[in-house]
Amino acid sequence: MTASQSPIWHPFTQHGLGDTIPLIARGEGARLYDANGHYWIDAISSWWVTTHGHAHPRIMAAIRDQSEKLDQLIFAGWTHEPAETLAAELIRITPDPLTRVFFSDSGSTSVEVALKMALGYWYNIGEPRSRILVLEHSYHGDTIGTMSVGERGVYNRAWQPLLFDVDTVPFPHEGMERATLDALEAACSKKPAAFIVEPLILGAGGMLIYPAWVLAEMRAICSRHNVLFIADEVMTGWGRTGTRFACDQAGVIPDIVCLSKGLTGGAMPLAVTLCIEPIFQAHWSTDRAKTFYHSSSYTANPIACAAAAANLAIWRDEPVQHRIDTLADAQGAHLSMLAHDPRVENPRRLGTIAAFDIAARDAGYLSNLAPRLIAFYRDRGVLLRPLGNTVYVMPPYGITPTDLAQVWDAIAASLDMG
Ligand SMILES: *Cc1c(COP(=O)(O)O)cnc(C)c1O
Repeated sequence: MTASQSPIWHPFTQHGLGDTIPLIARGEGARLYDANGHYWIDAISSWWVTTHGHAHPRIMAAIRDQSEKLDQLIFAGWTHEPAETLAAELIRITPDPLTRVFFSDSGSTSVEVALKMALGYWYNIGEPRSRILVLEHSYHGDTIGTMSVGERGVYNRAWQPLLFDVDTVPFPHEGMERATLDALEAACSKKPAAFIVEPLILGAGGMLIYPAWVLAEMRAICSRHNVLFIADEVMTGWGRTGTRFACDQAGVIPDIVCLSKGLTGGAMPLAVTLCIEPIFQAHWSTDRAKTFYHSSSYTANPIACAAAAANLAIWRDEPVQHRIDTLADAQGAHLSMLAHDPRVENPRRLGTIAAFDIAARDAGYLSNLAPRLIAFYRDRGVLLRPLGNTVYVMPPYGITPTDLAQVWDAIAASLDMG
């Protein structure tokens, strides 16, 4: 079926440009196959969710098993084994101060929950605060609340009248880290409720990397000023940055952590917001008015939880860290082969994520560069989706060296398009 015959309105897709929309029938490892057996290499992990690879046998088996037992359960006042197993394991693998797990179903909802938890905390302890501090160029989701704490621009212009005000701290560009920390310090003294940040790398903002010591300093400033520190690890979690969580590299323990995307290995929609005990305790009461009033219908869906529990078992039993290290090295090697090309600017890598900017001849080339690149790669059997002129590769950890080489060959061939 072609897109014009389909009633589907795709996300982030300008149907008026008439792009072809491939119909995928099957996924295995890093490959996505159509019904004729033609395949594309998924070099962006289906938008940053697929960690080990598509259709990982253990995750698929867990989904099959759970689907024969319990499909869905109201989670207000009821519980089930996959959620209990998963929550216990999440608490086991995260730092001790994180003691509570709140389930939801997407990265955006996990951030909404984090913001609501933060304001609920201050409200319930009788010191209401409502200001949120954010980092410039951040992305935290596409709902009204998460757009409010994200970068304003072409992606959310129509809805800006609905977005709430935040205080924005400048991104810590190399050499400018002090300015960021000073701005955070100044903003913290105004008693905001929380600071929300993507640790070590801003994904949708253009794969902007900043050093671990800056993250650690930002955390220390929030601690000193008693401002809740929210780490949005929706993209960075589950190994992308080289460690299981990006905060691990900075020795940072957040007050609230958002996890989604790779939580189920990328197989099912699920999210969690973890928090420290005082936030839970601020809501713990015999007074119903202090209840945390948040739920979505599919909160802690049992099949999604079983998939996530299988993902955590894979992390426990298989050499996942070794695969991540191997992929990180391979990404580094491929990137360094292009790094000295005059058409390649700002080559950068964090763990398994490699990125650079294509030098564009002029603004005209730049304006429609991303869609032209996407089509170019697609025609060469590679799924890549540059952010403006920023090309990045973020593959599933199980990608074969041959497939990874094909991805980078396509990239090398594309450099003239800038
Ligand atoms: C993708 C993303 C989100 C939103 O997650 P969805 O599941 O798409 O709602 C939030 N924060 C970050 C850092 C992300 O990369």
